[in-house]
Amino acid sequence: MRELETSIQYLPGVGPKRAALLQKELGVTTLGELIRLYPFRYIDRSSVIPIAELSADLAFVQVKARVISETLFAKGGGILCQILLGPDGKPVLAKGSEPRFNIAQRLSVIVEDGSGRLELVFFKGIKWNYQRLAPGSTFIFFGKPQDFNGRLNIVHPEVDAPQEGTAGQEGLTGVYSSTEKLKNGGITGKVMCKMQSGALALCLPEIEDPIPAYILQEMGLCGLQYALKNIHFPSDHYALQKASNRLKFEELFFLQLSLLKQKYRRSRFDKGIPMPKVGPAFNACYKALPYDLTGAQKRVIKEIRSDMEGGSQMNRLLQGDVGSGKTLVAVLSCLIAAGNGYQSCIMAPTEVLAQQHYANISRYLAPTGVKCALLTGSTGTKDRREIHAGLLDGSIGIIVGTHALLEDVVQFKALGLAVIDEQHRFGVDQRSKLWSKGAGAPPHVLVMTATPIPRTLAMTVYGDLDVSVIDEMPPGRKPVQTMCITPGKLPQMYNFIEKEIAAGRQAFIVFPMIFENDKIDITNIEQGYEEIVRRFPLEKGYKVALVHGQQNNDVKNFNMDAFAAGRAHILVSTTVIEVGVDVPNATVMVIESAQRFGLSQLHQLRGRVGRGAEKSYCILVRDYKTSKEAQQRLDLMCRTEDGFEIAEEDMKMRGPGDLEGTQQSGLPVTLNIASLARDGIILNSARSMAIKVLDEDPTLEAPRNAGLAQELKKDKYNIKDYSKIS
Ligand code: ADP
Ligand code: MG
Repeated sequence: MRELETSIQYLPGVGPKRAALLQKELGVTTLGELIRLYPFRYIDRSSVIPIAELSADLAFVQVKARVISETLFAKGGGILCQILLGPDGKPVLAKGSEPRFNIAQRLSVIVEDGSGRLELVFFKGIKWNYQRLAPGSTFIFFGKPQDFNGRLNIVHPEVDAPQEGTAGQEGLTGVYSSTEKLKNGGITGKVMCKMQSGALALCLPEIEDPIPAYILQEMGLCGLQYALKNIHFPSDHYALQKASNRLKFEELFFLQLSLLKQKYRRSRFDKGIPMPKVGPAFNACYKALPYDLTGAQKRVIKEIRSDMEGGSQMNRLLQGDVGSGKTLVAVLSCLIAAGNGYQSCIMAPTEVLAQQHYANISRYLAPTGVKCALLTGSTGTKDRREIHAGLLDGSIGIIVGTHALLEDVVQFKALGLAVIDEQHRFGVDQRSKLWSKGAGAPPHVLVMTATPIPRTLAMTVYGDLDVSVIDEMPPGRKPVQTMCITPGKLPQMYNFIEKEIAAGRQAFIVFPMIFENDKIDITNIEQGYEEIVRRFPLEKGYKVALVHGQQNNDVKNFNMDAFAAGRAHILVSTTVIEVGVDVPNATVMVIESAQRFGLSQLHQLRGRVGRGAEKSYCILVRDYKTSKEAQQRLDLMCRTEDGFEIAEEDMKMRGPGDLEGTQQSGLPVTLNIASLARDGIILNSARSMAIKVLDEDPTLEAPRNAGLAQELKKDKYNIKDYSKIS
């Protein structure tokens, strides 16, 4: 194990200075770490694309073409000099005189390959490029085509002299992530390749595969030595594919193994509170419902019941789109606890949401005789004391609240179930406080989230939780008609809103939150508000409420209440309404500058309408200047209302490492090579294999699994247990 732990500074050409730079920029100190830094893409030096087939949609391309002109531009755009290809195939000076590089701002080079012409642009290295790219000579150019005012060009392409006969021989070359500082420090792509090759030569002989042979064989995967060699220096596409499959599997497999191992340990050793009965309260609530449970609700309640009746602690994630009926499922779960003599708590991230839960839950509880109370930061001292007493003597069966529930003074007679709404807003420490309030054993835990999480992400972020999904909406919910418009259509939109108001409905108009030097900038929403008030003036009987983050709580609540109670026709707001407020009478959701919002936010906002009996509309107003990516998001919104589909697409559009919510919900380890968006199939097989291994050997004590146990000892797998912190 010596070479793997050797410092990179001993590699030829590295030394202490560059080693320090690599450590700082890439977090790499040893050879073993270096060889785990994989290329993020490969240049296929064997394929050349005709210019006529280029488009801005293509990633990096290679073009083989002849230079036909060079033009040097000054700062203002004036031409300093221009060289063209003369009729005799020799360069001719067509404009200007001696090139004055000191005042040149840009070099434009036109190349031609028989299929078409392409412009190459240089802002740096102007002199060097001007001199080597003489008209008449042919080069290989490598870069990313982009659209500039309707014309394609490539800025700062890599330039190589064509080597006849060697194309394809070099084949695939890895490209490593780099930084400006690394480049300035002399660590170019070529240097990196050399370092990798040096490190591999030293390390490969001592590499031991942490994945046992029996698993490799069953999964048809290559060994680690082969994989490392070919991920850096693939002999061909096939070898690269094999190497990358193996490394992705490894990454996902150990992640799943570590998460599932915790889960196995918990189910074997951690006692839960047994709740074998259903009880009269559950039945009373159920019978009084004016509707049937949806199939999905029934299935999920069955899952929860079977978790709670056994002897181990439930740790379940309940996913379901806004309006899918999660609250009812939560209430019925609490009533199971009540039927067995235990109390429940329901914790919400905000005061508004807690109040709303409390109001809804109280309705469900009316026929049951179970007492419910609300405890938040603004509960008065007297009420607070009564609630504390009621929880302690057991007269309160269900407590709804915010973080206030976590205070030490809040003690239960017998807490048996904790329901946590939108858990990612709760910190790990806070959750551990709840646990300690359990009746002898940690309470069962039901985490609810309305943010649909793609399956692959859920498996990874919540790998140690069981997941239930409500994938069916209660019947009768009308689809929300969604459309995307540009500001030119605003007058028609206002006319439409006017009609809806005349019919007795209300409208939301949401503006993005804009930050200026870290401060919330409200000019945008204030101007918007003024425009809307001009169109819907008080004199004509219209009331427009305004809510944004800069207002104090009293003003905010007053305006919000006015809208919720139907006294205001229009609510102009920033995204504070994203969570909470249920106004079934609102039928229009306008989202201004919609291109600025992420998909999950758009989806959450749209979920605010379509909750009543009337048909609802979501109008996305996008700026004239909207990027292609943003337009894709808006198109998707117009196409579907399915939160899971949106979440999946969102993940694909964003690509790996840029998942909104991933940061906050915390992927337990960083993924180097696998992508949750693209490697779902590998993730599935990695998870199945991890389950199989643990089913046979839950503690990984069998000799054949020694490599697995060894690998899991590494620091990076010391993953915080999400559901049980003691
Ligand atoms: P969520 O919490 O998932 O956003 P809610 O529990 O608030 O959803 O339910 C949304 C609405 O649907 C509520 O008004 C609720 O009473 C109603 N509802 C719940 N389950 C059903 C059902 N099975 N059939 C009809 N309506 C239902
Ligand atoms: Mg809800």
